Amino acid sequence: MSASGETQQIYDLFIIGGGINGCGIARDASGRGLSVALAEMNDLASATSSSSTKLFHGGLRYLEYFEIRLVREALIEREVLLKAMPHISWPMRFVLPYHKDMRFENSTPTSRILNTVMPWMKGRRPAWLIRLGLFMYDNLGGREILPGTSTVDLTQGPEGAPLQERFEKAYEYSDCWVEDSRLVVLNARDAEARGAEIMTRTKVMSCVRVDDMWEVIVQDTNTGVQRRFRAKMLVNAGGPWVGDIIHGKIRSNSTEGVRLVRGSHIVTRKLYDHDKCYFFQGTDGRIIFAIPYEQDFTLIGTTDAEHTDPSIKPECTDEERDYLLSFASDYFKQPVTRDDIVWSYSGVRPLYDDGASSATAATRDYTLKVDAVGGAPVLNVFGGKITTYRRLAESALEHIQEYFPQAPSTWTAGVALPGGNFAVSDTEKLIADLQQKYPFLTPFWARRLTRAYGAEASEVLGDVREAEQLGRDFGATLTEAEVRWLMEREYAQTAEDVVWRRSKLGLRLTAEQVAALDHWMSDVRSIGSAQAAQ
Ligand SMILES: Cc1cc2nc3c(=O)[nH]c(=O)nc-3n(C[C@H](O)[C@H](O)[C@H](O)COP(=O)(O)OP(=O)(O)OC[C@H]3O[C@@H](n4cnc5c(N)ncnc54)[C@H](O)[C@@H]3O)c2cc1C
Repeated sequence: MSASGETQQIYDLFIIGGGINGCGIARDASGRGLSVALAEMNDLASATSSSSTKLFHGGLRYLEYFEIRLVREALIEREVLLKAMPHISWPMRFVLPYHKDMRFENSTPTSRILNTVMPWMKGRRPAWLIRLGLFMYDNLGGREILPGTSTVDLTQGPEGAPLQERFEKAYEYSDCWVEDSRLVVLNARDAEARGAEIMTRTKVMSCVRVDDMWEVIVQDTNTGVQRRFRAKMLVNAGGPWVGDIIHGKIRSNSTEGVRLVRGSHIVTRKLYDHDKCYFFQGTDGRIIFAIPYEQDFTLIGTTDAEHTDPSIKPECTDEERDYLLSFASDYFKQPVTRDDIVWSYSGVRPLYDDGASSATAATRDYTLKVDAVGGAPVLNVFGGKITTYRRLAESALEHIQEYFPQAPSTWTAGVALPGGNFAVSDTEKLIADLQQKYPFLTPFWARRLTRAYGAEASEVLGDVREAEQLGRDFGATLTEAEVRWLMEREYAQTAEDVVWRRSKLGLRLTAEQVAALDHWMSDVRSIGSAQAAQ
């Protein structure tokens, strides 16, 4: 089974993990001229990086933990990223309802100070504190495009309509949406375009230091075939598996630890008719979001639950589901029930273990550690947010600069990802242009393609005049032309890759349609493998 092939090339970096951090580092490093190989054991973004709340955000709640560095960096990043990918990211307004009788269990550093200096405030998050937090949020980091905070009268206008009548006032602030799994794929594509070798369904089995070099053995998880690579440096971007890789694959004695914190979301039928999100504060001191999702749905999340083992697939437990339903029902007029749920998903945050008492309090900041004790160096990546992936990559390159002093300096700020080379304000025009070029597209279809592929949408469709020329119709506007693009250009191998990570068409396709797609893709892959073997 193990036909061990060896590559002659010695790579500068071998990256383990095709989540946002691995792919972000691969893109940055290959753009600086380093030779890079990246191995992902499943599909790109198959773990945490497709399970987030999908926000480029500063993290308003982290201000209560005085995580000023993280919040400032993330706030500045929002607009840098938005400009580089205006197809998969867009501004959103968040409505934070406020009621003077609201009480919270709260043990954040801010609430502890408040309890000491103003003991009568115990259990409250007063309006002035929220206003102060939002003032900092508006002013901490380079905001040019996004509008600042405003006050909303919930007794007027659409924002108050779905909420219980006791909420009369709200604050409204800005953050951005991002299609997390597409972000990962676009980084991988850009890295490959700049010379990186991207291998999916390729598991790293062992990493051994030999003569100041890493010898890495990988296994193709489809065929079982093993290959051997040599690299000057290893980057461990294994997300929830970062600790397993340190101890199981590299066999290092490093004491750095990762804390696994599961977060679950539920997706319901569309609960309200406007395009803003809600930021709800819970009596337990936590917050959740309710976000308009995929045009016809509402996304609600998230939770914070300890997760012991990365090999246990994270799933939304009944307890987490009921927690989210009851939390949202404390705000919406119409209670949200199990019958409203159409899908749920779960992910594991690979947080740096800073010894915090609760999962909610554990730091969301990233920590990078170079370990060169046994010879060739390895960079271990802990924590981080989708929002800070580009800065994390820059910081990673800074950490390894001494090993590659010839590599040029930072370059990714202001460089568009594939399909993202248009102005943030031009999205609607792009959608209209696509529909004009392909009059058979419905408004939903044109919007979906533009939001996924941006300026590349017409490359996906090609030179056709009628929908029939796009080949087989898999349902919900997914055609053979698009699936072939995803297989040839975006590393998709299975129906799941297509309907849950390259798109969210899984919300609209039936199980039979997904099975038919999977069957078709499997046939295409078999024909491709047979031709390659000839
Ligand atoms: C519920 C939740 C909500 C979140 N919401 C947000 C948000 O709204 N905004 C935000 O900015 N951040 C958010 N985050 C944080 C963000 O999603 C994560 O920080 C980020 O996705 C971590 O990326 P990663 O690349 O480190 O890990 P991952 O995406 O998990 O990638 C690691 C990869 O390594 C691979 N791997 C592991 N071992 C091996 C091996 N031996 N060989 C090959 N490959 C291997 C895995 O298969 C995996 O794909 C959220 C996280 C969660 C869980």
